[in-house]
Amino acid sequence: MAERPRTYKTEGVVLRRRNIGEADSIFTVFSEDQGKFDAVAKGVRKARSHMRGHLEPLTRSRFLIAQGSSLDVFTQAETITAYRGVREDLDRGAEAIYCAELVDRLTVERQEHRDVYELLLDELDALDAGCPLHVTRLFEVRLLAMLGFELQVDGCATCGSRLAEEDQLLAPAAGGLVCPSCRAGAGAGRRISPRAIKVLRFARDASMERFAGLRVDAGLGRELHLALADVIRAVLEREVNAGRFVEQVARLPASHSVTSRDVQ
Ligand SMILES: [Zn+2]
Repeated sequence: MAERPRTYKTEGVVLRRRNIGEADSIFTVFSEDQGKFDAVAKGVRKARSHMRGHLEPLTRSRFLIAQGSSLDVFTQAETITAYRGVREDLDRGAEAIYCAELVDRLTVERQEHRDVYELLLDELDALDAGCPLHVTRLFEVRLLAMLGFELQVDGCATCGSRLAEEDQLLAPAAGGLVCPSCRAGAGAGRRISPRAIKVLRFARDASMERFAGLRVDAGLGRELHLALADVIRAVLEREVNAGRFVEQVARLPASHSVTSRDVQ
């Protein structure tokens, strides 16, 4: 197996921090060329730490990192973009933290995903520039697609038939919109309006800038928010269940064969 160099440079967005010991913190970063990883910054909570400001969550920074025996160690950090407009505004800050959390929960350690990195930067740039908060809906739609959960919004997700321009059922377990004749087997869902469906289709292809320019009134904004929240909840539950499965398998003795009964 190829070894990583003893020290390496990368750039990324700090997703979150957790404190350990007296003055250290572990930071989860989503980087341009390595995806998500954790590394520790020693003494970073001391007032004189020169790295502190460059490792704030939601900051885009350049890092120099030393490979550690268990956890890598930040040796230098330098801010590229501080996103003050995001961090100094409660609503924008909450929106950005939500996006960072989604990236954290839906990605795997050290798996490069440049598209996700670019998307996260686009979202932070848009929020920082004062774009309307519905830009997060584009972020959600695209993030899901990049990670293999593309929402079917053109035709019926089950049979592929064309959908009339009327309210449709969005069924997360089916992977998108389902036509009236497939509804019985599609699982739980939420009815969404033709207006909302158009926005979901637009979110799939539009640039962040064009999407930000879309007029989304409060009712439509709420409808889209709830619809995508359903989908994300379903995807996260599936991921969490898969994660539990892995943990249970890890705890089993090597000779034990796994049957479906063991993991229920
Ligand atoms: Zn159908």
